Amino acid sequence: MKETVDQKLIGTPRRIILYGNPLLRQVARKVTAIDADLLRLIADLKATMLRCNGIGLAANQIGVQLAVFTLAPQEADVDLPTTAIINPEIVATEGTVETEEGCLSIPEIFEVVPRPEMVIIRGVTPEGKETQIEASGLLARAIVHEIEHLQGILFIDHLSELRLKLLQQRLAAIEKMEKQQCG
Ligand code: ZN
Repeated sequence: MKETVDQKLIGTPRRIILYGNPLLRQVARKVTAIDADLLRLIADLKATMLRCNGIGLAANQIGVQLAVFTLAPQEADVDLPTTAIINPEIVATEGTVETEEGCLSIPEIFEVVPRPEMVIIRGVTPEGKETQIEASGLLARAIVHEIEHLQGILFIDHLSELRLKLLQQRLAAIEKMEKQQCG
């Protein structure tokens, strides 16, 4: 039986980079080779995401500027072919839903942000296969949130100027935080 990379590699949680760190504002580089370093990175991303109870985590949130993110599949998403997507691209979106959202790099702040109701993305699995994922609801929200991370965009960028002003003190406090509680 062919073992998948996921079963073989147990990742080590790494430190999550917080709001204010310029690395979160950089655009991630495309992955050009799926090698041992990348598979280690994916395993570490998963370990970090799970330790922090996140539903998704982008590589630049642990300081690596590569276009890859992980997802923690929810119960309803049994068809999800993989939990790590390399070089993700949005193919299509439909509808808009406004719901509260948070980010492991901006702890304790939850704000209502509009997101597509449905999204189709394509990318590459850790096994090197081209894949297309169609998602709705929470998973669609998580996927778009993570893809934006890889473009240097944060969910608070979608807030109004007034809302951002009201959050200013709390955001400034996060900038001074040494590290996320969970990692
Ligand atoms: Zn985030």
